[in-house]
Amino acid sequence: MPNASVCPKDADKRRAVRPVICYPNNTLPDVDLSLYLAARRDAIKTDEILVSPRDAACFSAPQGHFFRISSVEGPQVGDFNLWNRDNLQEHFYSGKTRALHGTHITTGEQMWSSFPALRPMATIIEDTLNWYGIDEFGGSVHDVIGTRCDPYTQQLLARSTYHYCCHSNLTRAFADFTGLSLADAEPHIHDVMNVFMCTGFTRDTGQYFMKASPVRPGDYLEFFAEINLIGGLSACPGGDCSSEHSSDVAACYPLLIEVFAPQAGALDGWIPPPLNAYDRSHGRC
Ligand SMILES: [Zn+2]
Repeated sequence: MPNASVCPKDADKRRAVRPVICYPNNTLPDVDLSLYLAARRDAIKTDEILVSPRDAACFSAPQGHFFRISSVEGPQVGDFNLWNRDNLQEHFYSGKTRALHGTHITTGEQMWSSFPALRPMATIIEDTLNWYGIDEFGGSVHDVIGTRCDPYTQQLLARSTYHYCCHSNLTRAFADFTGLSLADAEPHIHDVMNVFMCTGFTRDTGQYFMKASPVRPGDYLEFFAEINLIGGLSACPGGDCSSEHSSDVAACYPLLIEVFAPQAGALDGWIPPPLNAYDRSHGRC
């Protein structure tokens, strides 16, 4: 064990310094929710995918379409990945989304993409769990702080092999959807948005925690596709994540994905998100 550090005389004073928000987000481009909701009203359902428990599925959501992830049959959380359908190198960036919006995201907030694009990929337009807020433990729903359950951490901590972690589920689904081999598909799997999952950090040790999701059948999260998207959703082997994941112990249920196309002209006036304007010179001519 390392030696305890020496506490300075002015420790309390240093701790009492008030925090400042790292990334004030009031200069982010405006989200025109009313335009999205008006376009959604007459949108036509074009696709439906049922994600089996302890498995994943990929789907296509063209730019300007809407997609809904619903709880069906029982409480279930989902590990969610997003890619630019036209350039798989551009994918969801959970860390920057967290820096911009906070640890959990909800209606009006966006899933941002990796560098150098750094633009909104999808906007949440409706969240039936929006009422949950932040509970007494610091827990909230739909986090962008977890990574995804995976077989490597399982080997590291439990010294056991489990093949139906979200990482492996997403790898198989992405390989099947794109035609890539498992080996070529795996590097595309990235840190997720945890749909319906209730998580936070313990106040005493700062550890990542999960608790039973408040989601119930009928709850849903709905998105607007800002660019052409491939989505990947895994119905986590943790079920509602009330006890454990990475095993076949928890009760698991399917998740439903539905895709909706807007009517012609419904998005008139909407400006698609541009690539980030930074010139990428990094200080060299
Ligand atoms: Zn999982």
